[in-house]
Amino acid sequence: MSRIVVLGAGLGGVIMAYEMKDKMRPSDELTVVNLGSTYSFVPSNPWVAVGWREPEAVTVDLEPIFKHRGINLRPEGARRVMASENRIALNDGTFIDYDYLIVATGPDLAFDEVPGLGPEGHTQSICQVDHAAEAKRAFDTLLNEPGPVVVGAVQGASCFGPAYEFAFILDTALRQARKRDQVPITFVTPEPYIGHLGLDGVGDTKGLIESAMRERHIKWITNAKVAKVAPDRMYVEEVDEAGKTAAKHELPFAFSMMLPAFRGVPAVYGIEGLVNPRGFVTVDKHQRNEAFPNIFAVGVCVAVPAVGKTPLPVGVPKTGFMIESMVTATAENIAALLTGEEPRAVASWNAVCLADFGDEGIAFVAQPQIPPRNVNWSSQGRWVHAAKIGFEKYFLHKVRQGKAETFYENLALHMLGIRKLKEIEIAPG
Ligand SMILES: Cc1cc2nc3c(=O)[nH]c(=O)nc-3n(C[C@H](O)[C@H](O)[C@H](O)COP(=O)(O)OP(=O)(O)OC[C@H]3O[C@@H](n4cnc5c(N)ncnc54)[C@H](O)[C@@H]3O)c2cc1C
Repeated sequence: MSRIVVLGAGLGGVIMAYEMKDKMRPSDELTVVNLGSTYSFVPSNPWVAVGWREPEAVTVDLEPIFKHRGINLRPEGARRVMASENRIALNDGTFIDYDYLIVATGPDLAFDEVPGLGPEGHTQSICQVDHAAEAKRAFDTLLNEPGPVVVGAVQGASCFGPAYEFAFILDTALRQARKRDQVPITFVTPEPYIGHLGLDGVGDTKGLIESAMRERHIKWITNAKVAKVAPDRMYVEEVDEAGKTAAKHELPFAFSMMLPAFRGVPAVYGIEGLVNPRGFVTVDKHQRNEAFPNIFAVGVCVAVPAVGKTPLPVGVPKTGFMIESMVTATAENIAALLTGEEPRAVASWNAVCLADFGDEGIAFVAQPQIPPRNVNWSSQGRWVHAAKIGFEKYFLHKVRQGKAETFYENLALHMLGIRKLKEIEIAPG
């Protein structure tokens, strides 16, 4: 019997638990350690922030589902992973031992790296559902007292899709409320150009997003470093190719939402051999850490190198499909180890993303992530908004059912020619 622990029950951790449960032996034990006992669908947060979704509609109580599936749930959360001892210190003072650990903790939100940033400062966040619910209250105030809006991401951020989405969703929601004419919107980003997305663009994301922003009267500042945020204004430095300050902007706002930079969570931050200097877990092509080969990682907590050099730090996004591919590979590889074989599955890390504008949207597929690519495709249309709603319903249904994947999803992926697994290496001999 082996004890398998999944740390984190977000998008990656929940499907990891379901896939692992399907692939492990009946005698193995599976435990999920999370902060709390609920799952919430992060991609819906921009809709929560403008009141298009209630937080309860995108939140799932995991306790009965895990119980039904024979998965132990420890909602206390981890204080520290003790990697050399194969154990985790939990926040309530107890410990849990493991034979295999899968880290799926998502990001620690580095608001503290910019003075005045974040819900405890002067900008809103959509990174967590409770942040989004708080942003909704600020949005209601904006509707009553319209004024300028600043949306975007700060230097070191890696999650640009939701920043663009939120700018467009705000535009749509403000138009619907007939208040858009009183709300100038500025998009602020460290990306060297609009639509870079941390991926050096995908297909024509530069042209498509710039054009959509022009059509919707959203101004932008690229190569932008946020120096500090005051209660009603943002201080932004625009840099040149060499990263030197080329212009300074003082942007007054009545409402602002900025994506922060991410780093590893405190439970793993600084563990030598396990994480990089930002606290992200380093893994090989089998999702496995080299220094601690019984530790794997999936999702935003995984260290992924930046795509090329940019004047300001710009990280690579880890999107849902890419995370699913990491999960499938990890489940295959731990299952192999359980039966005395070597890990062979390699995640594709392809980026597939639907960016919603509230009425239409942009979809893109980057395969592989780093250019030059075999598939480098983007497209715009109303179908993207419909597809995003469909995906939300489908994914939440899947989580509530306790299922990792269905035949139809496989079929759809197959039809699109997108695979989660890049290769299954042939074992020597
Ligand atoms: C606003 C937003 C919108 C996004 N929209 C999309 C989208 O439309 N499409 C897409 O493909 N991707 C999207 N992403 C990117 C990505 O898919 C999500 O961030 C996704 O939730 C990441 O999954 P994860 O499992 O890595 O982390 P998370 O879903 O953040 O889960 C991490 C989990 O770990 C838990 N945890 C943290 N610390 C501990 C601890 N010490 N002990 C125990 N548990 C802990 C947390 O409580 C949480 O449950 C979006 C990201 C954001 C921020």
